[in-house]
Amino acid sequence: MLNQLIEKCLSEFGEICNTSSNAADFSYWKIGGPVKLLIEPSSVEQLQKAIKYINLYSDVPSLCVGDGSNLLFDSAGFDGVIIKIGNALSKLEYDQTGTIATCEAGIWVPELAYQLSLKGLTGVEHICGIPGRIGGLVYMNGGSNRRSILENTLKVELINRLGELEVEHAKDLPFSYRTSPFQNDGRIVARVTLSLMQGERKVVRAKMRSILASRRKKFPRKLPNCGSVFLSDPKMYDLIGPPGFAIEKVGLKGLKQGQAQISPVHANFIVNNGGATSDDVLYLIRKIRQDVYADTDFLMDCEARYVAPNGGLCQAHIKAEALFGSVGK
Ligand SMILES: Cc1cc2nc3c(=O)[nH]c(=O)nc-3n(C[C@H](O)[C@H](O)[C@H](O)COP(=O)(O)OP(=O)(O)OC[C@H]3O[C@@H](n4cnc5c(N)ncnc54)[C@H](O)[C@@H]3O)c2cc1C
Repeated sequence: MLNQLIEKCLSEFGEICNTSSNAADFSYWKIGGPVKLLIEPSSVEQLQKAIKYINLYSDVPSLCVGDGSNLLFDSAGFDGVIIKIGNALSKLEYDQTGTIATCEAGIWVPELAYQLSLKGLTGVEHICGIPGRIGGLVYMNGGSNRRSILENTLKVELINRLGELEVEHAKDLPFSYRTSPFQNDGRIVARVTLSLMQGERKVVRAKMRSILASRRKKFPRKLPNCGSVFLSDPKMYDLIGPPGFAIEKVGLKGLKQGQAQISPVHANFIVNNGGATSDDVLYLIRKIRQDVYADTDFLMDCEARYVAPNGGLCQAHIKAEALFGSVGK
């Protein structure tokens, strides 16, 4: 099945296919292994076609990714097809009022924030320091400063398993902190329309500069990492504090497993000191979950996703417990 699909993809759009890629090259953690086929579409139409083909071969694992800034690939690699949505899909357009912006899923989030700031558009300054692509950000309903991207989203254009485009209006969607309905329905984000307000370029730029300066102070920048590993639970935040504080409190800041380490700069980050494996990271994730639970009675869930060689995708703590034993009640 897989070989047939690879042949079909190579003959249909060979120039955007790569049969010798490694997931570590497109994961911010720099962890991964060989990927059987990587496809990087250069238009929404090509993306639709690729999705349609892949779904005809339903036994072949496939996954759509942006920059891999939230993904832990297994060190064994990925035995299927990865569709990578990046720069080739990054058109940005405005409506006549100039305050409604539609972009393709592959635009780099800091570049989008920069472009909006040049026009003095306000509302999503909080995304300016988040790596990754807008499709991944919408899927994760990511954001910062207690905000999330779907708050400013008007509509999302998605591709279903048949390769057809569908439109969802954000006001009709159930979403909450770091949760979007797209996490469960298998559709691929193709375009996103944001609703913004006209502000002053100087003010918007100043706000972004201050957000970037504060992130630079708080987050580890030199070593590969995937940002915050654990989600902040509002109840736990009020009673104990954010995940980083809880992890530091139980004395785990700086703990190493192989070449992975709980960052000495910010305890909710796990860094790769060079050559870390997915199991090293998963071991630390389970250790954190266990020790914080023993201390606080809160079970912290992961924001980071684990990608199995067979295409399975789950929050990383689920794989960590499957490997190293369950935690809690
Ligand atoms: C240093 C650092 C700081 C970070 N800070 C923040 C932060 O402040 N706030 C925050 O929310 N996140 C943060 N992150 C996490 C990450 O950047 C975001 O979650 C980002 O939005 C993921 O985008 P991506 O393109 O890299 O997605 P990927 O990591 O490639 O994928 C993430 C998930 O989205 C899915 N996906 C990707 N693209 C699509 C698409 N087009 N359609 C459907 N599904 C798709 C993937 O299948 C996967 O399940 C940080 C990460 C790093 C490394």
